[in-house]
Amino acid sequence: MRIAEKWFEMRRVDDAITHLWEPHVDPLVRCNIWHVRGRDRDLVIDTGLGIQSLREVARSLFGHAVVAVATHWHFDHTGGLHEFEERIGHRSEARWLAEPPEGSATLRASEFPKELQQAMQDAGYPLAGDLLTALPHADYDLGSYALRGARPTRAVDEGDRIDLGDRSFEVLHLAGHSPGSIGLWEASTGTLFSGDAVYDGPLLDMLPDADIAQYLGTMRRLRELPVEVVHAGHEPSFGRARLIDLCDAYLKSRGA
Ligand SMILES: [Zn+2]
Ligand SMILES: [Zn+2]
Repeated sequence: MRIAEKWFEMRRVDDAITHLWEPHVDPLVRCNIWHVRGRDRDLVIDTGLGIQSLREVARSLFGHAVVAVATHWHFDHTGGLHEFEERIGHRSEARWLAEPPEGSATLRASEFPKELQQAMQDAGYPLAGDLLTALPHADYDLGSYALRGARPTRAVDEGDRIDLGDRSFEVLHLAGHSPGSIGLWEASTGTLFSGDAVYDGPLLDMLPDADIAQYLGTMRRLRELPVEVVHAGHEPSFGRARLIDLCDAYLKSRGA
């Protein structure tokens, strides 16, 4: 496998928001990392696989106090969580964030449980062998990948607020993809950070911790949210019309 020149890419979305991602990672586990600059503190929403230090790479961005938010506990979103002193996650997933379950993180698709591999194939993710297309450095051992647990310093739930001084996000509990999936909603700008509750790609509701009944409720709720823009856990951002399409497509696919 070739060696990556750099591990993270980043792109300014607007004056306050920067999008970071890991280009050499299979789309299945390549999460979007969002940095939001605030007056008193910044937010980093999801932290990637933790293969390379996010904190180090984004030093120029992370100027002052940074609060890291895990939209949910899955390893592709929480690998770098331990690098941050202030960590937020939903209370129902605090234990998994602190101590990731055995076998829940791997860079080899063949190591996922068989049912999980099938579920991913069915959802539309062709699984090749390794989930990296380049290595971070020559002696990197892909098989040694492990997630470092990081207990949230603040466990949140529906309606809690995360205040940055000049802007404030409301926690939406968007269960279904996982029990403690959360979104961050800023009503004044119509901005939603949705994690894996909704993104513009094949949605996964067959994972061992997923719940289709809850997912249907989340989709009905998201459909009514007056969003301007959704910055999701994977794939490109989108607006209200696309959100409604995605919600409707999901509801239809599950006969609701
Ligand atoms: Zn996920
Ligand atoms: Zn994900």
